[in-house]
Amino acid sequence: MCSFVPLRLICGEDVIWQNPRPSSTLLCRPIYFKFVNENKLDIKEEMAMVEAEITALKPSVISNNINVKHSMLMTMIDGKIASHLSQTSMQTCDICKAVPSEMNDLKKIKENISSDLYKYGLSTLHAWIRCMECMLHIAYRLEFKKWQARDEASKTMMKNRKLSIQQKFRDQMGLLIDVVKQGAGTTNDGNTARTFFRNPEKTADITGLSPELIQKFAVILRVVSSGQPINTDTFADYAQKTAQLYVELYSWYFMPASVHKLLLHGAEIIKHFSILPIGQLSEEASEARNKDFRKIREHHTRKFSRVATNEDIFNGFITSSDPYLSSIRPVLKKNYKRQVTDEMKLLLLSDNSLDQENVEFVDVTNMVDSDFSEED
Ligand SMILES: [Zn+2]
Repeated sequence: MCSFVPLRLICGEDVIWQNPRPSSTLLCRPIYFKFVNENKLDIKEEMAMVEAEITALKPSVISNNINVKHSMLMTMIDGKIASHLSQTSMQTCDICKAVPSEMNDLKKIKENISSDLYKYGLSTLHAWIRCMECMLHIAYRLEFKKWQARDEASKTMMKNRKLSIQQKFRDQMGLLIDVVKQGAGTTNDGNTARTFFRNPEKTADITGLSPELIQKFAVILRVVSSGQPINTDTFADYAQKTAQLYVELYSWYFMPASVHKLLLHGAEIIKHFSILPIGQLSEEASEARNKDFRKIREHHTRKFSRVATNEDIFNGFITSSDPYLSSIRPVLKKNYKRQVTDEMKLLLLSDNSLDQENVEFVDVTNMVDSDFSEED
């Protein structure tokens, strides 16, 4: 599925309109969808097609003297697509081509940086999930401290430890972790990951990992998805320190490519998007659309022909993201207070035109779960 989210309307330096919830599907407009096996999909071809359409975009003429130019950023992609585009495997860093065994060598100078891939952004939603999974995989292996469980003894140890950690998360935090869902990956989604990092002490207690490292990851993840402008210098420093701490503590577990990308290339990628904070370029809206897709198809479509079903799905997307309808909907109250800690403040730019007095704190939390079903 290919969709786009309008983020901001500017006139010179002035921000005329700002999407208050870039990660919500409220304004996520559909472009097209296709029924095709994800592995058979020619992503290069799809990208070329969308890129050609972007190039051919003409300014919208509102009146005689008002023209709106469109600039599109292709950041609503996940790690899978990013590695397709750079033709690397999921385990290799698409930007510096580091392979797993090189990941924990922070001093190694990377020369072949593909900075042309910065434009695909950081996939902040998937960063949450990948960081949580990295922490979990270390936790499962804490008893034998090796990247791979090769012998039977380690395999059994890992299996038992995994079960006990899963049980504790279930009992103490109500979280289902790493449970395989039929036909749809695992239960590890953005909300699970956010809960995982919300209380570093407790998570550390359950997993046996360093609370300091979990805390550092939590700060980084919340900063990149805050939707606020980031101070790339302090961010780079903080991310580097986090990577160092990781390597000091768990050198035996090669840092996954997605975690490596966040920590070691994050600052440069954030810098690449000078116009908009990285948190507003998340792929979350597009991901949440997949869930809507199933709901709309089940409950809001005519079933007598495939053409009719698809037409109704598309219309469902159009109406549920209608700019006028979305603008008159009451804003849902959040159930927890967003807290910007002092540690986070150090990594955010405060003297920016986008300070909290002018613009509401951009809400990047996934509200879509309730968005659609409540209306149902
Ligand atoms: Zn890299």
